[in-house]
Amino acid sequence: MRITRREFLRLATISAAALGLTPSDFLKLGEALASSTSPPVIWLQGAACTGCSIALLNVTNPTIDDVLLNTISLKYQTNLSAAAGELAIGSIIDSTTAADGQFILCIEGGIPTAAGGNYSVIGDRDGANWTILSAVNELGPRAKYVLAVGTCAVYGGVVKPSTYTGIKTVKEILGGKTRNPIINLPTCPAHPESVVGTMITLLTKGLPDLDQDNRPTDYFTTTVHNNCPRRFTHMVSQIGTYGCYRMIGCQGPSTIINCPLIKWNNGVNWCVEADMLCIGCASPNFPRGPFYYSGMYMGSMDGEMGGIGYHIGGNSSTVGHAHAGRSGSMGIGHSLR
Ligand code: SF4
Ligand code: SF4
Repeated sequence: MRITRREFLRLATISAAALGLTPSDFLKLGEALASSTSPPVIWLQGAACTGCSIALLNVTNPTIDDVLLNTISLKYQTNLSAAAGELAIGSIIDSTTAADGQFILCIEGGIPTAAGGNYSVIGDRDGANWTILSAVNELGPRAKYVLAVGTCAVYGGVVKPSTYTGIKTVKEILGGKTRNPIINLPTCPAHPESVVGTMITLLTKGLPDLDQDNRPTDYFTTTVHNNCPRRFTHMVSQIGTYGCYRMIGCQGPSTIINCPLIKWNNGVNWCVEADMLCIGCASPNFPRGPFYYSGMYMGSMDGEMGGIGYHIGGNSSTVGHAHAGRSGSMGIGHSLR
C-alpha cells in the first residue's frame, strides 16, 4: 500500500501536541512532502541487533516503512531495500551525490573500528568491502542532518563492551565534522515516535531544540520518574505487582526520556505500566545491572550494580504481561523483566 500525503499528514497530526507543530508548520510539511526534492534518507546499520529498525517498522498503522519508503524518500535501509549488492550500494552513492549536503543520514548501532572496520560491511564497492566505518566517515560530513538512532549509536549500548570489534559511537567518529549537531535518539530500541517525529521536525522547522547531550527536548526533558504515574504509590518488592519499583532497582529516577507520556507500541503501554521497572535503556551507562533485585534492596542505587544479571521476582504470567509493554530489541532482557 502506498501511503498518501494526506495520510502522512494525519499521522503527523497525532504527534502534533508532542512536537508543538502549528498550522503553519503543517503547511510547510505539506509543501515539503509535495516537493519532488524532499531530502533523501539513508539508514545505515552498524553493530546492532536490528531492534531499532524492527521497532520502527512494526508499530504504527499505516506502517512506518510505507511512510519512509513512499513519503520521506528513504533511499536505503538495510532491512527494507529490495536491491542488493551493487544496486544497493549504487542507490546510496547516487542519491547522496544528487542531494549532496541535503540528505538525512540515520545511523543505527555502534560502529566497529577494529580490523579496518571489517566487522560491519555494507557490501562490495569497487571490488573492496565498503565498511560502515568508511561509509559514516564519507557520508556524515556531507549530510545535512545526522541522526544517531538508538542507544548503541549514541552511547555504545549493548555492543560497546565488545573487546574485539572496537566499537565507537557516532559522536566518537563524527563529532565536530558534521554540518549540524548530531541528533541523539537513545533508548533500546530507539523510540519510533522520536525517530519519525524528529524527521517531521527536520522537514518543517529544521534542527529541533536539543539538550546538552544533543537529544531533542521534545522527548528528552525530564526523568522517567518525574512523569511516572506510580511516583507516589507504595514501594513494592516484586516486579509484576502494582506499585513503585524504586527499591528493587528502577532506573526511572536517573533516566531522561518521556516514556510515561508517549508510551510504546503506538501508545499502548510502557515498562512500568506493564508492571516492570525501568532499566534505564536511554541512559549513557546502559546496560548496567543487575537490572532488578528480588526483595527490597536497601543500598544506594548508584555505583553498586556490577555485571548484568537478572533476579526475577515474577512468575511466567507476569513476565509475559511485562513483555506486552513494548516491542523491539533486547528480546531476552526485556522479555525477562
Ligand atoms: S516505578 Fe520507577 S519511575 Fe515509577 S515512580 Fe517508582 S522509581 Fe519512579
Ligand atoms: S521506561 Fe522502559 S523504554 Fe523508557 S527508558 Fe526506561 S527501560 Fe527504556
